[in-house]
Amino acid sequence: MGQSKLKIPKTCEHCGKSFEAKTVTTRFCSNACGHKADNARKKAARQEAKQQELIAKIPNNRPYISIAEAVLLFNVSRDTIYRLIRMGKIPAINLGERLTRISRLHIETMFAPLAVTPTVPEVQQPKKMDYSQDECYTIGEITEKFGISPSTVSNTIRKNSIPKKQIGKFVYVPKNEIDKIFANKK
Ligand SMILES: [Zn+2]
Repeated sequence: MGQSKLKIPKTCEHCGKSFEAKTVTTRFCSNACGHKADNARKKAARQEAKQQELIAKIPNNRPYISIAEAVLLFNVSRDTIYRLIRMGKIPAINLGERLTRISRLHIETMFAPLAVTPTVPEVQQPKKMDYSQDECYTIGEITEKFGISPSTVSNTIRKNSIPKKQIGKFVYVPKNEIDKIFANKK
């Protein structure tokens, strides 16, 4: 068999160079590019972790936050924030050079992720069954009344998805459901 002779045209995900891959899962033109991409991924993960750490340090109850905090919290650029301040869309107070504080509430209403209301599929309410003993047969009672074997009764219950309920030693099934099926067969 030996080496695969596959030559799949690909574009390196790191340097963008076109190359011929030997396997469909090859993503980089060379080991060097693979390593570089790996390092970049690790660096991004570290940055992400650091970002999360910083976000966690921002108290939730502070009405005014710094630009840097807003960038972190809402993933918007400084430019966007400054533009919104200039437009009067976000109230800001300037405590000094590089000490602008902006209203968290205002930026929150602008950049809060859209509220996701999960669409809950309407659950079909199962038919409420009356399992009172007057309204139910036990398997034994069905066997006796219709003259059929317990296994036939069980099979019929299963096949027709007749609701049943075990109470103590006995399995109860609604009389009306059983009557419907066996009455004809009598
Ligand atoms: Zn490459």
